Amino acid sequence: MYQKGLRFECQGSGGCCVSRGGYGYVWMTIEDRRRMARVLKISTSAFTRRYCRKQFDVWRLKNAKTAACLFLKNGKCEVYKGRPTQCRTWPFWPENMNAKVWDKEIAAFCPGVGKGRRRSPQEIEKVLKEQGASEDTYGS
Ligand code: SF4
Repeated sequence: MYQKGLRFECQGSGGCCVSRGGYGYVWMTIEDRRRMARVLKISTSAFTRRYCRKQFDVWRLKNAKTAACLFLKNGKCEVYKGRPTQCRTWPFWPENMNAKVWDKEIAAFCPGVGKGRRRSPQEIEKVLKEQGASEDTYGS
């Protein structure tokens, strides 16, 4: 579905930082935890204890009291510079590369879909690979 590329430009809505349906968790690689810990100036183990939870042998961010991510403050990510891989690669995830999903589900809450620069198929492939590779290491 992305043979001709796809237009996407983040509009800063924070919509992808609020859980809905199947998109409920922020899964974390060890690199994600290290990078976020550096941004917060704490050790990786302290970051993991304070902000993460292991579920099905995979690390994820703990849930906040609301549906929003615990790092979303006033509509902005507090750890944006070190945000997790799945946040950086959004919305170019393998499961979203289906015209029906992209046009109906993703476009419904992500105002960046259809905006800005057209991403080439090569660019999209690169991001999809990065996201796919990170998914392989969630448990470590
Ligand atoms: S870590 Fe930041 S970018 Fe990722 S879901 Fe939380 S607030 Fe959004």
